Amino acid sequence: MEGCIFCKIIKGEIPSTRIYEDEKVYAFADINPILEGHTLIIPKRHSENLWEIPEADLSAIHAASKKVAGAMKKGLGADGVACVQLNGKSVNQVVMHYHFHLIPHQPGGPDLPMTAWKLMPGDMDKIKANAEKISRAL
Ligand code: 5GP
Ligand code: ZN
Repeated sequence: MEGCIFCKIIKGEIPSTRIYEDEKVYAFADINPILEGHTLIIPKRHSENLWEIPEADLSAIHAASKKVAGAMKKGLGADGVACVQLNGKSVNQVVMHYHFHLIPHQPGGPDLPMTAWKLMPGDMDKIKANAEKISRAL
């Protein structure tokens, strides 16, 4: 897509540090790593978000994420991998080309802030009402 930086990365118009690639996906190092080894997996065909992406591309990204997460364990000695994926400006999606973050954690390394939230019991009536609204919309 015109003007999309991740489409430019796929075309080689913007340099990137390649980690893995197949027919449908491209994986490369994030230039602002949250932790060492932070990797992004993107579909080669432009989709903006989870609502738009075709299931075949989504499946390919998930299959690739399994490979890359395994390599993070083997190659970096990661003892955990956080998978993060943002949809929409309201949840801080910055690049509007679907991307799946894989963030490896090293033994003894710092916690990821977004994986260390405090558990607070919810209101069961609200939990059930929201679950019903989502379920009915499927
Ligand atoms: P978002 O908040 O949209 O999920 O995250 C976008 C991610 O893309 C950020 O982690 C940011 O560091 C990364 N990013 C943005 N521009 C570039 C770029 O030109 N090259 C690479 N390798 N990563 C980028
Ligand atoms: Zn794009």
